[in-house]
Formats: sequence, C-alpha cells, structure tokens
Amino acid sequence: MTRIYPFFIPHAGCPNRCLYCRQDRITGIDQAPSPEQVAKTLDRILPPQGDGEVAFYGGTFTLLDESLQRAYCAAAARYIEAGRVGGVRISTRPDALCATDAERLRQWGVTTVEIGAQSFSSAVLRCVRRGYEPHQITASLDRLQEVGLAAGVQLMPGLPGGNRAEAMDSVAAAIALGPDFLRIYPTVILRGSALEEMWQAGEYTPLGLAEAVDWCAEILWNCRLAGVPVIRMGLQSSPELEGAVAAGPYHPAFGQLVRSRLWLRVLLRGGELTGRVKAGVHAADLAEAIGHRRQNITALSERFGTFSLYAAEIDRGHAIFGESTFSAAELAAYQE
Ligand code: SF4
Repeated sequence: MTRIYPFFIPHAGCPNRCLYCRQDRITGIDQAPSPEQVAKTLDRILPPQGDGEVAFYGGTFTLLDESLQRAYCAAAARYIEAGRVGGVRISTRPDALCATDAERLRQWGVTTVEIGAQSFSSAVLRCVRRGYEPHQITASLDRLQEVGLAAGVQLMPGLPGGNRAEAMDSVAAAIALGPDFLRIYPTVILRGSALEEMWQAGEYTPLGLAEAVDWCAEILWNCRLAGVPVIRMGLQSSPELEGAVAAGPYHPAFGQLVRSRLWLRVLLRGGELTGRVKAGVHAADLAEAIGHRRQNITALSERFGTFSLYAAEIDRGHAIFGESTFSAAELAAYQE
C-alpha cells in the first residue's frame, strides 16, 4: 500500500460548508500549513528514498488560488525529483475539476486525485448541500482517467435522504466508473455541524453501528468481486475525532468490524452447506474470522450449538470445512 504523508488544509477552497462536515474538528487543525511549512516538514519526515505520496486533504484543493496549488505541488516536487517520494495526492469535489485542472495537476506532479462523491443520488446530494449532480462525478473521473491520473472515489453511506438501496446503488455507480480505489465513510454526526442540528431537531437518525457494519460488509463484498480496492472504511481514529463525534456509527476499528462481518457471512454459509462446526482459515485471517471480542464465534455457536476455528495451511481469503475448501467471496454471497 502506498505510504501517505498527509497535510490537512481544513475547508480551504471549499465553496460552501457541507451539512455533515467539520474538517477543523476532526483534524484538530484550524489553519492550513504554508507551502514553506510543508517543504520543511517533508525535509524532516521523508526517507532518503521512497515512493509514497504527499497528500493534501480536508479541503477543495482545485479551488485554492492557482498560485497556492502550484506552490504546494512545488513544495513536494523537489522531493519527487530527489527520489524521496513518488508523487502528490489531492482530494477535491467532482464539480471543481475541469479538463484543464486535471492536466495542470498532472504537470505539477500530482499522481492521484480523490473525488469526494459521497453519493450518486441527486436527492441525497441536494439534502446535504453538495451542489452538484451525479453526472458531474462521472465527468470528473473521466477527466482524471483521460490524463492518466489515478482516481479514487469517496462515498458516505447513511447520509440524510439516503437508505441502504441508495448506498448500494452509489457503490455500483462508482464501481462502474473504473476507479483505482474507494474510500467508504459511513456518516457520523460531528459536533458543530449542521447535521448535528438536524439530529437534535429529530430530523435525522444516524445509522447504528451494527447496521453500518452490515451495509459496509455488503459494499466490501461487491468491491472485492469487482476487483476495486477499498483503502479505508470508517474515519481514521484520533483523539481529535473521538472528541468531535456527537453520534453515529463511529468505531476506532470500524474496518476490522466490517471484514469480520464478512467472515461471519462466509462461516455461516460454509457451516450450513457442509454441516461442519469447525473451519480453518489462513493464520493471517484468523483474528478477523474470530471477530472483535469473539463476536463471530458467539454468533456461530448460537446458530450451530458450537463452532471453532483454527489456522489452516490454505490461501488467504479461503475457508476449509472438513475436506472442502471455499473462497470467501463465493460463500459471502449468502446473506442472513
Ligand atoms: S465535505 Fe469537502 S467540500 Fe464540503 S465542506 Fe467538507 S471539505 Fe469542503
């Protein structure tokens, strides 16, 4: 996985404040670093040789003054030339990336662009004040792919006006665009956001943790089938974030919960198909197959009376029941 050296530019360049967003609260940073500060930090933290990416997150990079965009990229460029880092990654909005922007970014050394799509539903996008239509997400991905930049898509299941079907349709729409990766951030309510006011007024109910984990397990399975990597599920935990979350499906190990949930689907199906109450998985898969606080073993034991797991000499992403080996992707098609 690409090593990322992140710099946060909270809300810089943003044309409005989206309903759910408080980048300043979740990063604990209220001012973007100057390009000089970025260069100084890079000089200190980059290895002598490396192929990571310097990333600018938390704002709308392509709506910053052009001179500032150029200066940020130039701060990284000298380290790219020296072989200490491989490129630059930025995040932006779908409606802030014309063909000229994409080409300019490429010339400045940007290698990856993350598009904050959030949803492909017009109704949801309107509800959360995003200010663009789904076709603009498609156009932004096309532009990145035309100039040869890696493109990622960020989605937020559980936004106001959305539901499970909308979340799954959004993932399918994103996969259809052929992105290099997805990030999935189930919606949480941040203190001081307009979404918090909606919640307090009883106009919005966030997903529960179990529900969000279940939705994301389905999303992850679909992405795996399509061969699209999901590089993150759930917000990166930090003391700042923990202090900023008012409600919603936040968990510091959210991604692990989702992968374990997918294993539960695999093991339930395998147990039912084979009648076996003992299964083997690769040693590196064992912790997630067992589940957080042995949740999966508890659920499987409730279903089958007893159930145990062991480390087996099989490929990762597979499970063996007696003599029968199955791929997890195949068994996970099953839902309770
Ligand atoms: S979601 Fe993105 S565009 Fe909206 S306020 Fe936050 S950083 Fe800015």
